[in-house]
Amino acid sequence: MSNRTIQVDERLYDYILDVSVRESGVLRKLREETAALGGVARMQISPEQGQFMAFLVELTGARRMLEVGTFTGYSALACAAALPPDGEFVACDVSKEWTDVGQKYWQEAGVFEKITLKLGPAVETLQTLLAQGQGNAFDMMFIDADKSSYLQYYELGLKLVRPGGLILIDNVLWGGAVADPAEQDEDTQAIRALNEKLHTDNRITLSLIPMGDGLTLARRRI
Ligand code: CA
Repeated sequence: MSNRTIQVDERLYDYILDVSVRESGVLRKLREETAALGGVARMQISPEQGQFMAFLVELTGARRMLEVGTFTGYSALACAAALPPDGEFVACDVSKEWTDVGQKYWQEAGVFEKITLKLGPAVETLQTLLAQGQGNAFDMMFIDADKSSYLQYYELGLKLVRPGGLILIDNVLWGGAVADPAEQDEDTQAIRALNEKLHTDNRITLSLIPMGDGLTLARRRI
């Protein structure tokens, strides 16, 4: 036992999956089809993270959720299923090819009607939503797209998410690179800059969860 977060090796990770993950058959099929795409599949969130995010949707009673970086639609499916029947999930991505993979599973799971897909650069989509009067209109947001735009997504998200709403940010540990001074590539620097900004940002309350590749929870202060 320890007052530090436990190190999770392969055996322990398998155990966590075995005793806690309740992945639906549709989510499993979507994960398997995504895995068959090859290396790009690492852009998909892990099953326990999908379950955690759906848990947060349920816990907070979120009705409207916004996502930047939908990829093949696993997180959208997991979270949309946890929204109430009249809930809405706005999914932003640049790739028709990838989001097409998810659409048949959204149909199969009965969440297709809740999901509005916005194809195009997400900064523009978010700005358009603001211009359409969608400020403070979302209960939750998930940011999981190009890392060099993370700061922009976050700032726009703080306007789109209501006070008390939650912004989730993925890959904040970036395979550990954020803590390695030798890593100076653009993506690593962008994630580091966001992590450091959030640490002292008084507009939010903050928790960084070492789940998956690191998941930050930022709640917009009321
Ligand atoms: Ca990710």
